[in-house]
Amino acid sequence: MKDFICSNCGNNNFSEGKIDKVFNIEGKLCLVENIPAFLCNRCQEPILTIETTEHIRFILKSNQKPSKIVTTQVYEFS
Ligand SMILES: [Zn+2]
Repeated sequence: MKDFICSNCGNNNFSEGKIDKVFNIEGKLCLVENIPAFLCNRCQEPILTIETTEHIRFILKSNQKPSKIVTTQVYEFS
C-alpha cells in the first residue's frame, strides 16, 4: 500500500495489521479492538482508511452492545 505517507515519519511503506484504539465519543471512552490498519514499516504509526474510520463511527454511534466492558487504570504523566 503506497498511497499513504506516514504523518509521523514521512515513510511510505506500510504493512497490513490490526490495532486496538480508544475513541472519545462525547466524553465516553470506547475501545475498539482488532481494527484493520496499515502500520508504518519504520515507526509502526497506524493509518486507518476512510472506510475503516467511517465504519468505526458507525459502530460507536449505533448503540450496539459492546462485546465486553472493562475497567481501566488511568495515569497522569508526571
Ligand atoms: Zn512512520
